[in-house]
Amino acid sequence: MQELTHYINGEMVKGTSGRFTDVYNPATGEVQAKVPLASIEELTKAIEDAAEAQVAWAATNPQRRARVMMKFGALINEHMEELAELVSKEHGKTIPDAKGDVQRGLEVVEVCMGAPSMLKGEYMDNGGPGIDLYAMRQALGVVAGITPFNFPAMIPLWKMAPAIACGNAMILKPSERCPSTSLRLAELLTEAGLPKGVLQVINGDKEVVDGILDNETIQAVGFVGSTPIAQYIYGRAATNGKRAQCFGGAKNHMIIMPDADLDKAADALIGAGYGAAGERCMAISVAVPVGQETADKLIEKLVPRVEALKVGPYTAGDDVDYGPVITAASKERINKLITSGVEQGADLVIDGRDFSLQGYENGFFCGPSLFDNVTPDMEIYKEEIFGPVLSTVRTETYEEALDLIMTNNYGNGTAIYTADGDTARDFAHRVNVGMVGINFPIPVPLSYFSFGGWKKSAFGDLNQYGPDAFKFYTKTKTVTARWFSGIKDGAALNFKAMD
Ligand code: NAD
Repeated sequence: MQELTHYINGEMVKGTSGRFTDVYNPATGEVQAKVPLASIEELTKAIEDAAEAQVAWAATNPQRRARVMMKFGALINEHMEELAELVSKEHGKTIPDAKGDVQRGLEVVEVCMGAPSMLKGEYMDNGGPGIDLYAMRQALGVVAGITPFNFPAMIPLWKMAPAIACGNAMILKPSERCPSTSLRLAELLTEAGLPKGVLQVINGDKEVVDGILDNETIQAVGFVGSTPIAQYIYGRAATNGKRAQCFGGAKNHMIIMPDADLDKAADALIGAGYGAAGERCMAISVAVPVGQETADKLIEKLVPRVEALKVGPYTAGDDVDYGPVITAASKERINKLITSGVEQGADLVIDGRDFSLQGYENGFFCGPSLFDNVTPDMEIYKEEIFGPVLSTVRTETYEEALDLIMTNNYGNGTAIYTADGDTARDFAHRVNVGMVGINFPIPVPLSYFSFGGWKKSAFGDLNQYGPDAFKFYTKTKTVTARWFSGIKDGAALNFKAMD
């Protein structure tokens, strides 16, 4: 059995706590490795070493720090196949999807190659008589990133690249279900020239997370995961005086207007609803057709597409649309929620509960499920299912559809399919959701914008990556300076006679 490690001071380091947790192969249901769960002593020592390394790193000029990002980006590209395989092996997503996971993280590294221009600060000449003001952006010190299982490459990269480019040291606590990609990325960063100790990957569970939240050296916490944990971490970090941004779960709706191209909308719903087995915080889990005729036609178009989905292990190559979900418990929860939907009166048009794959009977595979006539009081509507289940909530008008989204607790992503620019514009302007797609199903912003939800999908200030990340990972110091008249008009250097 493979024993995974932490990554401390530039090397893989075995855990000493004696506590481990299993890392599964979700396609077979077998335990493929064990990962150490760090003790508070291991964490504290790693933080102390990071604090020491951070001083010299922050003093390294920003362009040299950016060069490390350039080399890191090149190494990620070089190791794309290997990293994608690591992602798929522990997460279960297909290789093309895993490459997308690495790629969207790499794009954030690419933006960090231009960090110096983001760190220039501000200057006001002659803000008062003889007075100049300037604002510097300085690194925070040691910061922490706590990441979820569903993007084992992308989200750790969203955290580590901007934090490090800004001159901080980072303690990264990846998901204990998919830890290997973070460990490998840390190795690549060292190869790219990052000094030892600036990135420490500490594996662990709640014990180490609480240790991070209570540690006085840690200045900021960037979290991504489920909403209850995001809210908990935000509260505890803020109480302890830390800067915190905590991104949570989602329930993303797509409105389909009667004038939409329904084939395009159906194709988009298949990719956004079932891709990665629905385990994306930007997955569309609720289709909202406007008008009964639109709904009938949409369901008609969805059914053959859902039935054609191919579910299997990533090792089956291009012949698979999506893989298993992450754990047996997750599969059981998804099936229970589907059952509750049936019991509460929704129409289960396609039932994925009994899905079984020959040769992979113990894998955590879920067949695709499609619901029609879901109502907002049902559990399947209220809960984030995080599985390959698409619910359809029928509405009569655009205003009703918009209201459904506006009153939902979550506000991560949303989309509208329409041929009418006026409707699309109205939607983008009024909807209380952080990321909006217009005829675009998964509107994850490109890396030079920034990513963040509203409502219960995010707690704290500022978004992830893009310009916001440079603000989150630095603090502003503003100097107001005045120089009294001196040598230029007062000092006499000639040999003067006594007056
Ligand atoms: P999770 O909340 O279970 O775990 C996230 C991290 O928190 C992990 O590192 C985990 O070890 C830690 N953690 C778990 N329980 C904890 C506890 N009680 N105390 C302290 N730490 C704890 O989330 P997950 O299942 O790994 O990821 C899926 C969730 O993440 C979904 O809800 C998804 O929508 C969300 N997500 C959100 C975004 C976003 O940007 N908004 C992006 C990706 C995923």
